[in-house]
Amino acid sequence: MKIPFLNLTMQDKLILTDVQHMVRMTAKKSSFILGPDVRAFEEEFASYCGSNFAVGVNSGTDALFLSLLAMGIGPGDEVIVPAFTFIATAFAVSYTGATPVFADIDKDTYNLDPDSFSSAITKRTKGVIPVHLFGQCADMSAIMAIARKRGIKVVEDACQAHGSVYHSSNVRRRTLDVGRKAGAIGDTGCFSFYPTKNLGGWGDGGLITTNDKPTYEKLRILRDCGRDKLRYEHVRVGYNSRLDSLQAVVLREKLKFLDQWNAKRKMFACEYGRLLSSVEEIVTPHEHPGHVYHAYCIRLKKRDRLQSHLHSKGIGTVVYYPLPLHLQKAYKGLKYSAGNFPVSERTCKEILALPMHPFLTMAQIRFVVSQIKQGLRSA
Ligand SMILES: *Cc1c(COP(=O)(O)O)cnc(C)c1O
Repeated sequence: MKIPFLNLTMQDKLILTDVQHMVRMTAKKSSFILGPDVRAFEEEFASYCGSNFAVGVNSGTDALFLSLLAMGIGPGDEVIVPAFTFIATAFAVSYTGATPVFADIDKDTYNLDPDSFSSAITKRTKGVIPVHLFGQCADMSAIMAIARKRGIKVVEDACQAHGSVYHSSNVRRRTLDVGRKAGAIGDTGCFSFYPTKNLGGWGDGGLITTNDKPTYEKLRILRDCGRDKLRYEHVRVGYNSRLDSLQAVVLREKLKFLDQWNAKRKMFACEYGRLLSSVEEIVTPHEHPGHVYHAYCIRLKKRDRLQSHLHSKGIGTVVYYPLPLHLQKAYKGLKYSAGNFPVSERTCKEILALPMHPFLTMAQIRFVVSQIKQGLRSA
């Protein structure tokens, strides 16, 4: 049995006819840039997240970058970022001229550890980017409380968490944030519509959510050449970072399926968890009810050997991420070294993402787990 890590063609089949029709309509109107579909998608996605506003941009990376710019973050400032995430979280900080300052992650959720965040704060700290990694919200009550007390702006990296709901297992820290969706908690929420995300376009795309009107207005100017109302009047240095109308067409159709697809992911995660619970060598994901399983990641000591066994059986797996950000060549200049963030470093050595998408079958899950067990026996 061949079990690919991902399957995008099944999603596309479901929306193809409607998208073809909508693309024809868009072409007829020649409304390719910031047309009615972008506006409609922004409204639909904001309402889906429970946010007041949304601004479509050209990628998740730019969603993060423009968020930081809108908050006035730049040279001389520091922004705290988990050491275990996709590199774009830190690059967005670097693009503004500010310095990314790394912090460690929680050993169970793989998300920013509030204590490590707290101890990384200096006089220069202007922002923090909690990442809702693999589809599970970071400990937002704790992070928001620390950030508010110190006047630090919070940019949620929700690029892997479309539709994820924040839950807290820490009763003392429960606040009004519990039950809110990823992207609707911090000062802004950043989404990517890279094709493999829980909500993915047919190309690059991204979006920023916010509840703050002035931030919303700044973001609209920043993503569209610094123009405010008039076409050739530019009120500040802006960027060409618009969400493409044709991507908005695809995303509007797919958004209709998002909850259903996330529910499928949860169901498959639940089955993985049940079948793997008896396997001692494997740590299964720590689960809050709002998890949307962008990835289903297990952790184990003999990761590399298990991965080659699974590949030899036709099962697609991915290691993300194999190297923490503070040890990447791109950030050599920041002078971090091995041992600085032990939880992130260990996670990089032990993490393995199993096949996860809404079109798996229970038989495929059972096959993956039986091959995991066989691989461990022979390892
Ligand atoms: C995908 C991703 C991004 C970047 O999104 P792009 O649309 O590829 O620019 C940023 N952060 C995280 C955690 C991501 O998974």
